[in-house]
Amino acid sequence: MKNKIVKKFAPLAAIAVLLILSLTLRNSTLLNETKVEGAGRPILIQGPMPIEAEKFAQKLEKVKIEKSGTFIFYKGKVNNYPVIVVKTGKGMENTAAATAVAIEKYNPIAIINQGTSGGHDPDLNVHDIVLGKKTTNIGSLKTGNIEENHGMDPTIWKPMDLMASEGSGSDPNAEKIRYYEGDQGLLEAANAVKDKYTNGRVVEGIIGSADVWNNEVDRIKWFHTNYGTSVEEMEGAAAAQIAEAYDVAFLGIRILSNNKTNGGKYDPNTAAANQDYVYEVVKKYIATIQSK
Ligand code: SAH
Repeated sequence: MKNKIVKKFAPLAAIAVLLILSLTLRNSTLLNETKVEGAGRPILIQGPMPIEAEKFAQKLEKVKIEKSGTFIFYKGKVNNYPVIVVKTGKGMENTAAATAVAIEKYNPIAIINQGTSGGHDPDLNVHDIVLGKKTTNIGSLKTGNIEENHGMDPTIWKPMDLMASEGSGSDPNAEKIRYYEGDQGLLEAANAVKDKYTNGRVVEGIIGSADVWNNEVDRIKWFHTNYGTSVEEMEGAAAAQIAEAYDVAFLGIRILSNNKTNGGKYDPNTAAANQDYVYEVVKKYIATIQSK
C-alpha cells in the first residue's frame, strides 16, 4: 500500500523539485542581469527651484515621479544607472528634510546639491562654478553681549557650531565654524570633466549657506575673510549636515548667478548651465563606480 502511494506520487514530486529548481535558477540569473545593468544604490541630485531641477530631470531615461510632502522625486536612469533628481524647494529646512526622506526611502550612494549662488569672491564671475571642497552654515551665529539701548553689532557675532556638543548653555568649544568636507570621489569626478564646461571656470572653494540673502558688501566681505566663502546660497550646508549624519558621500556644486562684490548681475540662465555640467559629473562618477 505504502509503496503504491510512493510510486503514484514520485513523478509529481520530481516535477515539483524541477519546477522549484528552475525558478531558483531563473531568479539568480535575473539578479545577475540587474547587477550587470548597474542597479546599485542611486545617485541623488538635488535642486531647490524648478529652474534648478527640471533640466536635469528631463535628461533622465525611464522616469517615474514620486512625491513626498512638497518634495518631487524624478526617479530614472543615466547610462542605465539609477539616478534620482529631487526638487527640494528653497532653503535649509526644505533641504534637510528632503535629504533625510531621500536617504530613508532610496538609500543613495552619493548626493550632489546643486544650483545657483551669489559670489563672495570678487575674482569669480557670473557663470563660474564652485565645487564645494567644504560647505558651511553661515547662519549659525551667536551675537555679542550688548545691554539695552546699546544697539546691535553684527561685526562681533561669533560662529556657533550646533554639532559641537549636545548640551546647552555657553560652550566655548562651540564658538567655531563647522565645515563639511566634499567627498573625494565626487570631487575627482567633477575635476575630471572640468574642460567640458565652457561658459566659465570651474574652481574648488567654500560654499556658505543660510536662509539669508546678503546684499551688504561689507558683510559679504566679512564672511569671505572669516569663513573663506567663495559663494553663498540657501541649501548646501543643510544637505551636507544630514548626509554626514547618515554617512553618505556629499558634494555641493554651485554656479554664480550673481556677484554683488564685482557688479555681476543676476542671470537665471546659469541654473540650466550648471545642470548640464553636473550631468557630465554624474556620468563620470557612474563610470568610476562601475569600473571598481
Ligand atoms: N527670488 C527670491 C529669492 C530666491 S531665494 C527673492 O528675491 O525674493 C534664492 C535662491 O537662489 C536660493 O535657493 C539660493 O540657494 C539661491 N541663491 C542665488 N543667489 C543667492 C545669493 N546671492 N544669496 C543667497 N541665495 C542665493
